[in-house]
Formats: sequence, structure tokens, C-alpha cells
Amino acid sequence: MQKNPQNNSLNHPQDYKQQVNHLAHLVEQAKTVCVFTGAGASTESGIPDYRSRFGIWTKMEEEGKDPQYFAHYKRLVEDPAEFFGRRIGNGPGPKPNPGHYALAQMEGAGKDIRIVTQNVDGLHQEAGHRSVVELHGSHHRWYCMGCDRPYKFQELRYDHQHVPRCYICNGVVRPDVVYFGENIDPKIVAQAERAVAAADLLLIVGTTLATGRAKRLARSYTGGPVVVINCDEISIQPIKVDLFIQAGFAQVMQDLKTRLDHI
Ligand SMILES: [Zn+2]
Repeated sequence: MQKNPQNNSLNHPQDYKQQVNHLAHLVEQAKTVCVFTGAGASTESGIPDYRSRFGIWTKMEEEGKDPQYFAHYKRLVEDPAEFFGRRIGNGPGPKPNPGHYALAQMEGAGKDIRIVTQNVDGLHQEAGHRSVVELHGSHHRWYCMGCDRPYKFQELRYDHQHVPRCYICNGVVRPDVVYFGENIDPKIVAQAERAVAAADLLLIVGTTLATGRAKRLARSYTGGPVVVINCDEISIQPIKVDLFIQAGFAQVMQDLKTRLDHI
């Protein structure tokens, strides 16, 4: 069955049930599943996404602001007070949603499910998932830009401008996150490439694959079917999509797990 996001705007309940059954069948048949997750997987944990209708970047662009400017490495270096002043709240807080747990439980039950995530919230690991590649780093890990000393979020101490500072050298302590203007560590890219190459089923969840790296990774996939799960209709051309489910991550993953439990 071929389905294209563009012509799947009607999503009747019976269609959804059939789609989840189809997905369960594909997962059951697959030896290795690669799940590519983006911001849409975390919105149900209370973290706003970037590019959906109500996303952070969509809102900024509507206000005439350039989102790349606010999350650019140059700003972190040149004006850390401004950078951290605008980004307070990044760090642990949100909890995994039922979708994260369902995926982790499927892995725990013996399915080879390798996650490649664009998210920096660490929620897949917190839910217990073991095979996770964090393409853009993690807000759970921080390090000093002066001496490289690693820090945990809970250890951070801030100066009067609310800039996290190193106990040893007083350097700026930053999240181990890839900002605009920075490159992904080649070792992480290689891990992600291995996860994609090993898979014979690719699920693309909650992401429009807007960054070049994410798109190139997905395009490098030569395994079996491709399934897209997203709340909004999206286009990820030129990737050929075998099944599109227009629904939320948590709902689909829970229903998938329930279905697999009964196979
Ligand atoms: Zn330091």
C-alpha cells in the first residue's frame, strides 16, 4: 500500500486502526527498526516544537525574528548573558510521555529498535530506551568552554547575569548541544548512519527532516518500508513513504505496543 502525506488528509477512525495494524505487521516482520524522532515526539511531554503551526520558530518568524539568530553559537560566545537570559528553562524538567515508554518497552521485550533523535531532552533514555543516538546532543550534559570540565545540570552555578560558570576556571558552562553554526560530532554522525544502515524498517516520527543532516541520513536508508507518523500533514520528498499515520507519537506508540502484545 502506497500512501502519500499529501493525499491523506482524511483520517477516519477505521483508517487509523487499519494503519496501526499495518504498522504492527511491519514492525513484527522487521529485524531491526530505526526510529527517527524529532520535536513532535516531545510535544506531548510539554516541550513546544519548532516548525509546526504553533511551533517556537513559526511564532518567531511571524514576529519577524530569525530563529537561527537566537540559537546561534556566535551569540553564545559573544553575549552569554543575553543567550542564557533568553534560554532559561532548558534542562531537565519534562518527563517522558507514554510514547517514549511504549517504545522503550518494545525494545525491552527484545525488539531491536534503534532511535536516532534530533531532540536534546533525553526523554527516550529516561524512559529506559538503551539504543539512542542524540544527533544534536543533550541538555542533560554541560561542559566548561574554558577547561572542558563536564557538568550535570543540577551542578550548575550561575553568576549575577544568570550565566553558568565553571568552579575551576570561571569559564562559561554550556549545554552539550549543537547550535546553529556548529557541526555535529562526526562520531555521532557515524553512529546514526550505522543505525539507519542496519534497519529494514524506518519510522520517521514528529519531524519534517528540516535540517540537512537529518534529511541526508533518512535519504541514505536503503532498507525496507518507510513509515511517517506526524500530527500535521508533512512532505519529506523525495523519500518514498509507504505508510503515513496522521496522529500523535504517544497515541500511535501505545496503540502499536498494544497491537504487538496481541500478535
Ligand atoms: Zn572551566
